[in-house]
Amino acid sequence: MPALALTDHDGLYGMVKFIIAARETGIKPIIGAELTLDGGYHLTLLAQNQTGYSNLCRLITRAQLDHEKGDPSLAWRYLDGHTDGLLALSGCHRGEIAQHLIHRDTKGAMEAAQRYLRVFGPGGFWIEVQRHLVGYDNRLSNDLIVLAKELGIGYVATNNVHYTAPKSRPLQDVLTSIKHNTPLDELGDLRRPNSEFYLKSVEEMLDLFPDHPEAVANSSRIAEQCQLDLNFTEHRLPEFPVPTGLSAFEYLRWLCYEGARRKYQPVSRRVIDQLEHELSVIHRVGLEDYFLLVWDICRYAQERDIPAQGRGSAAGSVVAYVLDITRVDPIEHDLLFERFLSEERGTIPDIDIDFSREGREEVIQYVYRRYGEDHAAMVCTVITFQARSAIREVGKALGFPPDLLDRIAKSVYGFDTEALSRAMTNARGRVEALPWQHLISLCEQIWDYPRHLSVHVGGMIITGSPLVEVIPLERARKEGIVVIQVDKDDIADLGLIKTDLLSLATLSLVKEAVELVEETEGVSLDLDSLTPFDDPGIYEMMCEPDTIGLFQVESRAQIQMLPKMQPREFSDIVVEVAIVRPGPIQGKMVHPYLQRRQGFEKVTYPHPKLEPVLKDTLGVIIFQEQVLKVASVIGGFTPGEGELLRRAMSRKRSYEDIEKLRTRFVRGAMRNGLSVTQANQVFDQLAAFGGYGFCKSHAAAFARTTYETAYLKLYHPLAFYTALLNNQPMGFYAPCVIVEDAKRHGVTVLSVDINGSHGRCTIENGALRLGLEYVDGIGEVALKTLEREREQGSYSSLREFCERTRLATPAIENLIMVGAFDSLGIPRRDLLWQLGEIKKNRDTKQKALSLTVPGEAVSFEDLTPWEKTGLDYLVLGLTTGPHIATYYREMWRKIGVVASKDLDHLQDGQKVRVAGFVIVRQQPSTAKGHIFISLEDEFGHINVIVRPHVVKRYHKIVRREPFPLIEGRVVVDGKVRNVLAERFLNRLRTSQLLKSASHDFR
Ligand SMILES: [Zn+2]
Repeated sequence: MPALALTDHDGLYGMVKFIIAARETGIKPIIGAELTLDGGYHLTLLAQNQTGYSNLCRLITRAQLDHEKGDPSLAWRYLDGHTDGLLALSGCHRGEIAQHLIHRDTKGAMEAAQRYLRVFGPGGFWIEVQRHLVGYDNRLSNDLIVLAKELGIGYVATNNVHYTAPKSRPLQDVLTSIKHNTPLDELGDLRRPNSEFYLKSVEEMLDLFPDHPEAVANSSRIAEQCQLDLNFTEHRLPEFPVPTGLSAFEYLRWLCYEGARRKYQPVSRRVIDQLEHELSVIHRVGLEDYFLLVWDICRYAQERDIPAQGRGSAAGSVVAYVLDITRVDPIEHDLLFERFLSEERGTIPDIDIDFSREGREEVIQYVYRRYGEDHAAMVCTVITFQARSAIREVGKALGFPPDLLDRIAKSVYGFDTEALSRAMTNARGRVEALPWQHLISLCEQIWDYPRHLSVHVGGMIITGSPLVEVIPLERARKEGIVVIQVDKDDIADLGLIKTDLLSLATLSLVKEAVELVEETEGVSLDLDSLTPFDDPGIYEMMCEPDTIGLFQVESRAQIQMLPKMQPREFSDIVVEVAIVRPGPIQGKMVHPYLQRRQGFEKVTYPHPKLEPVLKDTLGVIIFQEQVLKVASVIGGFTPGEGELLRRAMSRKRSYEDIEKLRTRFVRGAMRNGLSVTQANQVFDQLAAFGGYGFCKSHAAAFARTTYETAYLKLYHPLAFYTALLNNQPMGFYAPCVIVEDAKRHGVTVLSVDINGSHGRCTIENGALRLGLEYVDGIGEVALKTLEREREQGSYSSLREFCERTRLATPAIENLIMVGAFDSLGIPRRDLLWQLGEIKKNRDTKQKALSLTVPGEAVSFEDLTPWEKTGLDYLVLGLTTGPHIATYYREMWRKIGVVASKDLDHLQDGQKVRVAGFVIVRQQPSTAKGHIFISLEDEFGHINVIVRPHVVKRYHKIVRREPFPLIEGRVVVDGKVRNVLAERFLNRLRTSQLLKSASHDFR
């Protein structure tokens, strides 16, 4: 097949992947779309050249934006003036002409055909004929050809492809059913009548048109007329306005030296050399405007006091550093520019910037204002079918009961036949019957199929030419947002550049903590002065490990790693951030590194020359940048070629590409004095690790933030925890875990109080006062009223509070139950009684002034501490009082339960009983069916490992019990102690109270 056209309905969704796949297989890709015209008619448009492509984008955008989401339709008049460079085909049987013919209206068909001919011009319009062994096929195609001949229009045989092979028809039916939200057996005409809508070879097409071989041949004439070679280099970026007399490059250069003088004192030869090198690459690939654009965004953020910092590979660039886009010095931390940008690479990288949560939206609005909505849009992500969505949607199409599907979907972990049938067996029992097998098979087939477009978290595209000439736009599900039709990952392949403007809650946390320190301690913190990040106290804390609330190093897996890792300097944090990732774990680099780190294994290097390159990581290749350096030191590659090698190793691993590079590498290595065997050995190691490494620049950018959060936690815990609680949800733990951690660090946490608490948590006389936002059931409006009223004077009674705030009764009840009125000195039960009386009076519409509370005489016993703790969890999701485990301690002691603090005294293999509040449950895909549980008691945490056979035996308790009692054995792993669970001693309890706190399976 020499050429193939992709014509999605009203969109170019598959275009980029199609172009790439077609090129790889040597097929000429033709870009087009099947547009829906007003009246519901279909029309196929193909782009002949760049002008045609731009027109196609405009037309699709028009059709999409003129109507509701998912219901595009183009008004005929828009075709006028936008048909240059487009070839039109009359469409499938739903084309206007075909429809007239099907309804035996020859006159109408002729008129329509003449109208199309006028709009698209002679040669620009073709009659399309299709045969799919459907009833009307032969008559319709013959009628169409007669009409074409009569009007002197060319005609062409096409194929209405909806799947590649006949066997995929059931899947297509299911997709149709999902699209129309109608069960399969009610689809009727919406379902295609047979299995003929598959991709056919030239021979098969000729067989279908024995009477009109010329119709088949004409398709290659059309293919010849389409000579589109998409190239946006000229238009991909807006020209950045620069001072008169300067070019963009000169201006960028000037800004860089300005920045360098601020950041480096003195500006060394090395800095100048690196700057000049980077600038020359930037100039040659034509990215001056891009750097200026990003610089401008960061400059705006700085002006508005919005925290902003670049992440990702861009952190390897000195230009980005001196322009204040990134915050880690690439020279000091040995980061590599070529991982980010090199001439050899061919594709354009993008720069990702994190902003504080509140600041990000402001920055996006700035971009819209600065470049106009015609030139800036949000990028979309194509959401694909995953296990749960597949089960729900496919099952629904097949007519399975929704509640059953829901149960299956909730219990599925992983995505293969086994995982699916396991989930179904759990929910249903036997699944051998045909319908179940059918469901499993379809779910597998649909896996990773595009499902819908979603707005990407922060990706923006900003173009020089108007966006509608570059890429079609459509509505997002979210009201008022317009997205481009190309997936975020496809943008670079198209030669366009996106900028990720992301939100990072940690930046909000750091900003708020610094402000709180200034307000309450009168200390003005300059986090930039923390360099060179060498405070031993901070490393001590990380080794402990005492990292709850710290950026990137607080997770269960990180906490397991830290005691073995024993970070002592900044580069160790960089490794720590990089190493607990799927890549390095799959690449099996973590184990050898830790063995060496703990001194169990000797540090060796693949070759003595590599010692300087791999010294920081003890001879193990962990960072992507190291692949580039090894390639350069041993194989004599330029860093840019090294990046090509790394990409070849990480992508689909084309054997041929890698072998070609091997030959070059070995040749270079021999020039460097290595033997063939040595060279091959080093290359094999590279190939084994190369694809799994982590980007050091990215890890370093994050590590700096890790250090800053650690600094705040260590020296300003009160401000740190206050800010941490105010920026939830973020990080790895629920607020209740953070509060317990705060208590263990000597922070006094005060519960909510109607006269003391604000909406957010505050610092009150050296203690953390919990904010009213934590009380369930109090909305924003109520909070504002409460605070505004209090400015007029404190509340002195419940009645007064009710009258002044007019809060809903359940909200007031909640406030009473968590002790927000305790400062009035009345027991909570009495207050609840009073509230009931007040409400009764209010309901009988008595005047507030004459309101009496007969119940004032009634007196109840106060709540017990246990009841108070329970209510705290229920209403606040945390407690400022004693940990819930304290109430069990006595009972636990009797049955031999060991507290977390005493676990350290036990020996490896010793039998042990533990218990506590589950704060984390995890089942990492790399853990082969193991489940990890973190328990919390009043002293700290206990990590429990549950092996698959134990998971199986105590399935529900393991997955759901909030307060398990576990018997097992101590496992000592270096400085880490875990408990290997053997038995779960309690039954599952379905207590409301304890349900919400654990972060299960995130
Ligand atoms: Zn159609």
